[in-house]
Amino acid sequence: PPINVRSLSEAIGIRANDLIKRMMNSMGLQVNINANLEEESAVMLAMEFGVELEVIHERTAEDDLLEAWEPDEAEVLNQVPRPPVITILGHVDHGKTSLLDRIRKSNVVSGESGGITQHIGAYQVEHEGKLLTFVDTPGHEAFTAMRARGANVTDIVVLVVAADDGVMPQTQEAIAHAKAADVPIVIALNKIDLPNVNLNKIYGELSQQDLAPEEYGGDTPVVKTSAVTGQGIPELLEMLGIVAELRCEILATPSRPATGTCLEASISEGRGVVATVLVQDGTLKVGDVMVCGDGFGRVRALFDDKGNSVTEAGPSMPVEVSGLDEVPTAGEKFGVVEDVSRAREIAETRRLRTRGVALGERQAVTLENLYSKMAEQKLKSLNLILKTDVQGSLEALIKELEKLENPEVPIRVLLKGVGGISESDILLADASQAIVIGFRVAPEDRAVTLADEKKIDIRRYDIIYQVTDEIKKAVEGLLVPEI
Ligand code: GDP
Repeated sequence: PPINVRSLSEAIGIRANDLIKRMMNSMGLQVNINANLEEESAVMLAMEFGVELEVIHERTAEDDLLEAWEPDEAEVLNQVPRPPVITILGHVDHGKTSLLDRIRKSNVVSGESGGITQHIGAYQVEHEGKLLTFVDTPGHEAFTAMRARGANVTDIVVLVVAADDGVMPQTQEAIAHAKAADVPIVIALNKIDLPNVNLNKIYGELSQQDLAPEEYGGDTPVVKTSAVTGQGIPELLEMLGIVAELRCEILATPSRPATGTCLEASISEGRGVVATVLVQDGTLKVGDVMVCGDGFGRVRALFDDKGNSVTEAGPSMPVEVSGLDEVPTAGEKFGVVEDVSRAREIAETRRLRTRGVALGERQAVTLENLYSKMAEQKLKSLNLILKTDVQGSLEALIKELEKLENPEVPIRVLLKGVGGISESDILLADASQAIVIGFRVAPEDRAVTLADEKKIDIRRYDIIYQVTDEIKKAVEGLLVPEI
């Protein structure tokens, strides 16, 4: 754990208040008791009180493991492009499922046409010799659940907008989710086969969401598609290939041991635990020993998205794995380790920790702990979700918030909207470490329940001054937790 004023005070036996005063006087720093200190500053501060502080770092097996899962320098040098991983988002009934089905059917990897397709959570298609990986669960609930677990598997978002309906509430939510994840968006303007499509209206709506189409002089790619006639599907795949190439960080090192993320998992009679994993780096092979979430095991068999048994899976390939001893949760990372005894050791440590987390160890961001989280570098900006009663107050609030921004604490408004605080707002807050601000609006019941569970900070205000005052204090680390 990082050193904060409180723990330093306990370690060197000097009253926290004296430490705080000294920091004010000698360093001009205004901090509270929970403020984290850099190791060097802690040592210097202790010295000022005549105490020599020695900082001992505890390294856990988990640290070793996670480090081993990161590519080293040589492996980075050997990186080559991998297929992009694509998730489809959009408003209900705009055609996400239909598009996914259409893409799957029209582009079976060559030589395997006619193969029975299995739903394993993701699939790959080939377009002009290049592979694309599609995550099979459309919608931002799944996307967000993954992100909440720290899994950013998606390289590109396809935002489906029905041409006869335009930008709808869930379209806006999807945009907020994609932007919060910093993932490029390609728009599939779907149902283009329908009569009476008003392109001008939709392009205008998209521009209002900061997604001005290329045809409109903006830089958001828009492809007109129909999941019914198949129109535009090749163009969409083409565009995804281009965006992937421009986004030059879509790389991996096939020769290294595999790491990746679990997309879904279940237990089935006869086959035991079956998990679909997405290999994100390296190559997973039958016989490898893997740790996934709290589970571990030797890979007994691998199946691809057509149900074929395969001996290995490279970067961006989804495969069904059997051999784990426990059912992992979607979004959990996996990695290959050298042997079974090591895997067992890691899995056991993780199981212990999971129980700890279940007892409420996890700490979401609040206005009170914002400052120390940023000092610990666990957070790069103050992320906000703003919901207000009317458009006018939304604009006024944003104007005020802009004034509070400073280089150390950038303020990011992930979602702004008029209306009550919804469950979806809480999910976004959870996935993006954000605080929800309700201005003259209340949260819906289900949002309250979810926020309690996820420990999301919902702040409600009636006067603009209250909002800016509290945020100003939080940004400066002056908002002290009530004890
Ligand atoms: P989702 O809720 O976004 O997954 O939407 P679905 O894929 O379930 O589609 C909703 C409805 O729209 C279904 O009745 C589809 O048949 C229809 N639909 C989907 N895509 C198209 C399209 O391109 N053109 C037309 N005319 N209908 C479509």
